[in-house]
This record gives sequence, C-alpha cells and structure tokens, in this order.
Amino acid sequence: MQHILVVGGAGYIGSHMVWLLGQRGIQVTTFDNLSGGHRDAVLHGELVVGDMADRALLDRVLSSRHFDAVMHFASYIQVGESVTDPAKYYLNNVANTIGLLNAMRDHGVARFVFSSTAAVFGEPQYSPIDERHPRQPINPYGRTKWMVEQALADYDRAYGLKSVSLRYFNAAGAHPQGLLGERHEPETHLVPLVLQAAAGRRPHVTVFGRDYDTPDGTCVRDYIHVMDLAQAHWKALDYLARGGSTSAFNLGNGDGYSVQQVVDTAMAVTGRSIAVQEGPRRAGDPARLVADASLARNVLGWEPQYADLTTIVRHAWQWECRHAGGTWA
Ligand code: UDP
Repeated sequence: MQHILVVGGAGYIGSHMVWLLGQRGIQVTTFDNLSGGHRDAVLHGELVVGDMADRALLDRVLSSRHFDAVMHFASYIQVGESVTDPAKYYLNNVANTIGLLNAMRDHGVARFVFSSTAAVFGEPQYSPIDERHPRQPINPYGRTKWMVEQALADYDRAYGLKSVSLRYFNAAGAHPQGLLGERHEPETHLVPLVLQAAAGRRPHVTVFGRDYDTPDGTCVRDYIHVMDLAQAHWKALDYLARGGSTSAFNLGNGDGYSVQQVVDTAMAVTGRSIAVQEGPRRAGDPARLVADASLARNVLGWEPQYADLTTIVRHAWQWECRHAGGTWA
C-alpha cells in the first residue's frame, strides 16, 4: 500500500488532494502547521500538526515509516503581501521547502510533487502560455516558486530526486458533493469574494481595473477546478512511479474568462444580484493569463472533468451556501 506525505494537506487545494488519495485507497499523512489550513478539512489519514521549519519533527515523521512520495502545498500565496513582506515568502516558500527536500534526501524519499504557479512566467509574451514561455516572474511570490523549480532540477542531477512542478493558473471551485471548499482568511480570490457578495456577506465586489486591453476591459484568467488540480497531481504521482523525468506542467483549461464574466456567471448561478464597485488596477496583474496545458494532457494523460466556468462557480456556491454566515461547523 502506498503512503504519501502531504505537506499543507489541511489547506484549500491540499485538502481536496488528501480526500482524492483516500478515494484511491492510498495511505496519507498530512503535515500542516494550520496557519492557513483547517483541522476539520483533513478527511482522510492522520494529521501531524507541525511546521516545515521544524527539521526534528520532519525527521521523526520521515523515519516513522516509508513514504513513496511527498506532495507540497504549504506555501504563502498572496502576490501583494509578497511585495510588502518578502522575508515571509523567501523563508517559508524557499528556505523551508529546501529544508523539506533535504529531509527527503536524507530519508531516501525520491519523488516530489510541487505546487507551482503561472506567476513564474511574469508578463506574458504570448498566449496561451506553454511550458517553453520564458520564466521571468515579476513579484517575489513568483520568484520563490521559480527558485524552487530551479533547485528541483539541481536536486535531480545531484541526488536523483524526481519531481513534477505543476503550474496552476487560477484555482477555484469546491468539492462537487460539498465536503470541502475554499476558506482563506482573509479571502483575496475573485470567485469566493464574488459569491460572498452574492450571499450578502460582503456589500460589493471591487473590480480591479476596467481599462485593460481585453474585450470588456477587465482582466482575463484561466479558472481551473480544484478537483481537476487534484486529479493532475494524482496523474503526476503515477508518472513519477513509472519513471518519469523531472518536469514542469501548466494546468489550466485554455479558456479565458474576464472578471466581469465571472461576476455575470455568479449572478446566473446564484440568481442574486451582485453589486460591483470600480477600483484601480492591482499591481502586478497581467491583462490575460491563459494556459496551454497540452503537455499535461499528452504526457500525464490528464483530462479536466469540470472545465466550464458555470460548473466551477456552482460548486463554489454550494460550499458558500453551506457555510453562509461564516460558520464552518
Ligand atoms: N480581482 C478583482 N477583484 C477582487 C479580486 C480579484 O477584480 O476583489 C481580479 C484580479 O485583478 C485578477 C482576477 O480577479 O485579474 C483573479 O484574481 P485572484 O486574486 O482571484 O487570482 P490571481 O490571478 O491573483 O491568482
């Protein structure tokens, strides 16, 4: 029976991954400091509450049993905060990740699946973005992820550590049966913010810029369902188990939706009106970020199941309704 260590398994994407591994009959140990994650989001396996910086604890966990692979979801993800507090990002996303890799090396765990991001590309030079697009991140968040991707290539050459880096475009949606969903504090992502406005938990949603060079002037993003992301990780584990080489894959649907289209879709799904306020552009937001994910489809055999925006928003709304009023119990 395979046993996987999921670092950050109590967070948004990690918790969906842990659930999926449970469905596949895989044993899981979640390692999470609960800084952003939630104990009750870990629906399968055991939870070790601890920080990646705690090397002694990592050593205890890694020597307690044999792990076939490590999956790493434990990163800070706010671009704006990474600009004002880069120390927090370099320490956790880079230094602590290197510590985790060193612990893996010392304990003989040779497979790693890493949550990377479209932010490694910076300002797009063409669209859709494939894996060959230059990596020129324009904020500390993107740089931390690109640094780890580069370290992973070196760790393969020197120590034989095989890894897959998955570059998410815009993760959204929730567990289709409503078991799990997004609960960031504070919430900064568009889909949950729009749905909180629909639910009356926020007075309005602010559109960050309407003067972009896009059809309706608002930013275009490639929204991808959180379960499809988890499914891609599952395929990545299989790829590494079959002897796949260290690689990076873009994960998106290849469809771009504008901020206004997300608001319109949310109004259609919820049947509620959503007040929109116009705001200035947010620093570091490219006009359009759309993935070419054909490499993941061809090499990993990944096939997104919930590609259309209405389904993504509907699942997120189901979760929002279940927890209306901010009670998660
Ligand atoms: N956005 C917005 N208002 C908000 C939050 C986000 O207009 O309150 C826009 C943001 O400028 C971007 C898109 O929605 O174009 C997606 O942003 P999000 O923060 O969800 O994800 P990111 O693209 O930063 O990963």
